[in-house]
Amino acid sequence: MNRPFYEFTLKEAIGVAREGGLREILRALRDRIQALQPKINAFVRYDFDQDLSAVSSQSVVAGVPLAVKDNICIRGKETTCASKILKGHTPPYDAAVIERLKAAGATILGQCNMDEFAFGSSCETSSFGPTRNPWDTTRVPGGSSGGSAAAVAADMAIAALGSDTGGSIRQPASLCGVVGLKPTYGRVSRYGLIAFGSSFDQIGPLTKTVEDSAILMNVLAGHDPRDSTSAMQPVPDYTKSLVCDVRDLRIGLPAEYFVEGLDREVDKSVRAAAETFRKLGATIKTIRLPHTPYSVAVYYIVAVAEASSNLGRFDGVQYGLRIPTKEIREMYFETRDEGFGVEAKRRILLGTFVLSAGYYEAYYRKGQKVRTLIRKDFYEAFEEVDLILTPTSPTPAFKIGEKANDPLAMYLSDIFTIPVNLSGIPAISIPCGFTSSGLPIGMQLAARPFQEELIFRAAYTFEQETGIYKTKPKL
Ligand code: GLN
Repeated sequence: MNRPFYEFTLKEAIGVAREGGLREILRALRDRIQALQPKINAFVRYDFDQDLSAVSSQSVVAGVPLAVKDNICIRGKETTCASKILKGHTPPYDAAVIERLKAAGATILGQCNMDEFAFGSSCETSSFGPTRNPWDTTRVPGGSSGGSAAAVAADMAIAALGSDTGGSIRQPASLCGVVGLKPTYGRVSRYGLIAFGSSFDQIGPLTKTVEDSAILMNVLAGHDPRDSTSAMQPVPDYTKSLVCDVRDLRIGLPAEYFVEGLDREVDKSVRAAAETFRKLGATIKTIRLPHTPYSVAVYYIVAVAEASSNLGRFDGVQYGLRIPTKEIREMYFETRDEGFGVEAKRRILLGTFVLSAGYYEAYYRKGQKVRTLIRKDFYEAFEEVDLILTPTSPTPAFKIGEKANDPLAMYLSDIFTIPVNLSGIPAISIPCGFTSSGLPIGMQLAARPFQEELIFRAAYTFEQETGIYKTKPKL
């Protein structure tokens, strides 16, 4: 049976493009996007009139079209973080990852919907309206890279880029049943990523398979002097780690992650995955990460502090929206009042508060100290195990509107992904099963800094053993 091209993995699509089938892939994707965009709203912009004349079919990506989150700057294309305040903002330069994708021969087909400025876990705070989950369109796709995850899950994109500050690649990957990798802090350049929390932000791939994730990491990873946090570490060939063997691996299950509040079916599915690893020869043990309960609180102090200073530059002078007034102070106030949505304002206010004189010591400095303890938990655990296995999100996809007016409930959606960002370590989310009602469940595998190869090997072994990725949403 012939599968339509839009269903192809990146690996398969590269093969087809090499044989001269690029235009057919592009056409298949265009038809698919046009058919499903009204239902899913995964994209905020797309461009089917690609100039393919410069594409080399022998390049790494061979012209295969990809999608990117709307917070990654593309030269000459509007880039808005799904915010009204950046309406009309057209960057004069490419982000480092866009340069790398273009150099590897990729075409950029479109920009994906997201929570405004990447603040959120549901894609509901976008000024373009919510994205819907391809598995059940009354549910959220997760966030903030919800558009990227939904596009890949619905076969509206072969693969996509997202960004992850507290879970924004992994949580939507989990809720949409795709693969999402947050690389080690410093592994991928953030030059040209519109900043949210600068001590957390990383760009990474959302893909249909683990192999595709490795292929894209070969393109994305590497040193960039324009990002002062970019690591000098050499980049391995990640596709070499795609070997089905976990017999030498010790995998830890943190006791603190399997507690009250964890959905019963998610719990069962992740434990079953641990059992699969055990059967394949890995050693499974229970570990402790004792400072876990402080993670969400610490994140919502440090990340909002960084966000409030990063968003200071959007004042109507240099970027996007400007509400014209007589006085410049009024112009700032009115532009920011009109341009930012409710969640962005909440974070700017909270962030400014925790950084203000008299509160800085009590909140921000204290938060940084506890962050060190959380990181230490991981480093100690990695003396006993090679990988840590957890659920990615405590629940499967929730209903649109269910948590929209309850910020705390929304923040708790990232309870298992946030500690990873606080520690700077790499982690992947891959599908590990389905609920009885057919919603995807994701599991997270985390490793020591710069051990993406171990993550890929274990994730690939599990994926090949179970074949879960072959199940697709009915659309
Ligand atoms: N959902 C988390 C937040 O709202 C994480 C977002 C992200 O990783 N960008 O901050």
